[in-house]
Amino acid sequence: MRFIYQDAFSVKGAVQAMAAVLQNGNRGRYIAGGTDLIPRIKRSIVDPDYVISLKNIPGLDRIIEDEQAIHIGALASLKEVASSDIVQKYAPAVAQAAGKAAAPVLRSMGTIGGNIMQDRRCCYYNQSLEWHEGWPPCYGIGKGRVCHRDSAKTRCERVLMSDLVPALILVGAKADIAGERGLRTVLLEDIIDAGTGIIALPLPNLITAITIGKKQASAWKEAYARMSVRKTIDFPEISIALAMQFDARSNAVTDVEIVVGAATPGPFRSKEIKHVVMHPIDSNLGELLGETVIQEIGPLVVGTPNFSQWYKTEMIKVMIKRLVNELRASEGV
Ligand SMILES: Cc1cc2nc3c(=O)[nH]c(=O)nc-3n(C[C@H](O)[C@H](O)[C@H](O)COP(=O)(O)OP(=O)(O)OC[C@H]3O[C@@H](n4cnc5c(N)ncnc54)[C@H](O)[C@@H]3O)c2cc1C
Ligand code: SF4
Repeated sequence: MRFIYQDAFSVKGAVQAMAAVLQNGNRGRYIAGGTDLIPRIKRSIVDPDYVISLKNIPGLDRIIEDEQAIHIGALASLKEVASSDIVQKYAPAVAQAAGKAAAPVLRSMGTIGGNIMQDRRCCYYNQSLEWHEGWPPCYGIGKGRVCHRDSAKTRCERVLMSDLVPALILVGAKADIAGERGLRTVLLEDIIDAGTGIIALPLPNLITAITIGKKQASAWKEAYARMSVRKTIDFPEISIALAMQFDARSNAVTDVEIVVGAATPGPFRSKEIKHVVMHPIDSNLGELLGETVIQEIGPLVVGTPNFSQWYKTEMIKVMIKRLVNELRASEGV
């Protein structure tokens, strides 16, 4: 558990330092708030030789807007994202997700970049070295050929439990990425594998900012909800990011997006709900959307020792219905 700590003072400097670490055959990790990485290092789940801190890179924590978009620096804390007037105005589901993640101290330290890039979790994986030594290795730890959580599985299905990711996918967020060849911008959804939750961002690449288009965001009414064992400190077991457009004159829903997180290994964006477009905005709408999403997700829902697959499946429907009814009530439709 010994590593060399380095401060980076520019994005380019961080990328170059990480590239050098890798070229020399060493293991490296970036660190921002450290609230995900440090527990993993303490548990010997990761064992980097070098840890390169992004915290002293100036300007990377700013939240700004221009005519087209809002830009959230990768080092903006979850607390800053949750309380930002700009984020609340143009991407309310993202602000709500940031405000519901973890607990107050963790939201002050944890950053949006680290939240996206946090490791996938499983109750058999996020444990101490001593604990792991008492179990045969599984697909996720070591080179085992078994999954302790579900013996029917033939691969590791740890879950990406980020609160921010489903909300960011909902609003079509883009990630600015710095790498050895310079800066590029990608749709966040395009680098996250929905089946496994694995994020395709190999080192020395790093996220510098998240961009959310204003035009898209302002046209939608959106909300975020999560279910966890306790209301605070616990990771979500289900998260729902939902956005709808209404037409008051025809009393119909004109577009809808739903992204389910934490209940499946990767974030799940429903495609089938587009068939519900032009449905009247009535008390059946929430139930219909919930049923449609569950028909599509099917057996992908991951049960845990806290909540069975059946219970989580039922709760996804309940949470979607509640969110739809909350949005209807807030819009008076
Ligand atoms: C008790 C507890 C409860 C928690 N509950 C929740 C919860 O409910 N919901 C939730 O979403 N999270 C939760 N977390 C996880 C964590 O606190 C948050 O996800 C936090 O936002 C992580 O940000 P960080 O800056 O601390 O990440 P770090 O720990 O610094 O980094 C996390 C990972 O991301 C990488 N990384 C960091 N920044 C970048 C970047 N800019 N570009 C590329 N890679 C980067 C690091 O190398 C590391 O692998 C919890 C953590 C704890 C300890
Ligand atoms: S999901 Fe299964 S294989 Fe993966 S870490 Fe958990 S127990 Fe191991």
